Amino acid sequence: MSQTVTDFEVHDIRFPTSEQLDGSDAMNPDPDYSAAYVVLSTVPVDGAHGTDIEGHGFCFTIGRGNEVMAAAIEALRPYVVGRPVPRTAADLAALHRELTHDSQLRWLGPEKGVMHMAAGAVVNAAWDLAAKQAGRPVWQFLAEMTPEELVSLVDFRYLTDALTPDEALAILRAAEPGRAERAERLRAEGYPAYTTSPGWLGYTDDKLVRLAKEAVVDGFTQIKLKVGGNLGDDVRRLALAREAVGPDIRIAVDANQRWDVADAVKWMTALAPYDPHWIEEPTSPDDILGHAAVRAGQPVKVATGEHVANRVVFKQLLQAGAVDFVQIDAARVAGVNENLAILLLAAKYGVPVCPHAGGVGLCELVQHLSMFDYVAVSGSWENRVIEYVDHLHEHFADPTVIESGRYAAPSSPGFSARMLPESIAAHRYPEGPVWQARRTTEEDDR
Ligand SMILES: [Mg+2]
Repeated sequence: MSQTVTDFEVHDIRFPTSEQLDGSDAMNPDPDYSAAYVVLSTVPVDGAHGTDIEGHGFCFTIGRGNEVMAAAIEALRPYVVGRPVPRTAADLAALHRELTHDSQLRWLGPEKGVMHMAAGAVVNAAWDLAAKQAGRPVWQFLAEMTPEELVSLVDFRYLTDALTPDEALAILRAAEPGRAERAERLRAEGYPAYTTSPGWLGYTDDKLVRLAKEAVVDGFTQIKLKVGGNLGDDVRRLALAREAVGPDIRIAVDANQRWDVADAVKWMTALAPYDPHWIEEPTSPDDILGHAAVRAGQPVKVATGEHVANRVVFKQLLQAGAVDFVQIDAARVAGVNENLAILLLAAKYGVPVCPHAGGVGLCELVQHLSMFDYVAVSGSWENRVIEYVDHLHEHFADPTVIESGRYAAPSSPGFSARMLPESIAAHRYPEGPVWQARRTTEEDDR
């Protein structure tokens, strides 16, 4: 009898990060970093045990609404429980298509927003489980698939005017000869990272300068600052950061969708003398022509993607020449399969992928996608960096390891997605002790 998925648990997990202003930016002044978290379970066979037989996945949110996300994941239960445990590219392609093509659930998007993110959490949990069955970290599991298997994972619907399956196959075949050598180099050197930890908008100037200098000492060659609150403050903060790190360290800036096009052009023209490396999310993530206008209207390169809903919007950003950097997010689109489509699109257009990370567990997940991209898709880490934020890693069983400003390649099987059981228990909302204690304090204060 084949092994099946026997259980499907969903948790609403929240961390009270708003108390420290960690993660604060111009659009999101008080986030409580949260995860709508799913665990797929199986019955052990052949001596497998414990966490080897669970698949973990999640969506990242910033607090309120995490219960909506959890309910959306719950709506996918019938697709998963009783299904044979996914092991192959064909299994993972079938699951991805079924979850994103359900005609009734698709109405809620289509292929965007809460339901699409929920599909991503379940797809990623299935990848975690399949990679564990194969005894490989996800980056390696992917990088050992044939070009034909990788192409079979992608839903090419709406993409073929920009990228056909044959073109994707050609990209993957061209990268095939160097795979082993690059995997070796990746294990030896790690993948380049940059840090956002110095730049949260709620931090004082002193804290910004101290953390910027520390980032350089720690080996980072790029940092990032949040902007978009007040222009005078941003000019002062960027000048301080530039003075703190010197001319050779890249400083990216991130407006988190704060501006209309004209504001973005005005603001970035004022910040340009301090040599920002990119302007991230200058305007609405849906506004392809707006990004193109920002790119044309001022001298700083444009990056976006963490809120881009799906592969179709990425396709248009690339077709319109609207971005210099593609910022995939592991938990926004429908999982590994859709991110593979986006990596292939970026490779076709020759645009570097610099993932969004941070939040809860996003660094842990997305490192696998960039590492796979380096080994088997673009074949390059030139001009590519993965975001790193030093928050909440202690809650994960296989946390990200940063050495001298680079992500160490994970070696444990799976997607590095498993949160520690004690962290889940403590942070469940609203019944976990972390939240119960806050409720009691609020009641006492009244
Ligand atoms: Mg950002």
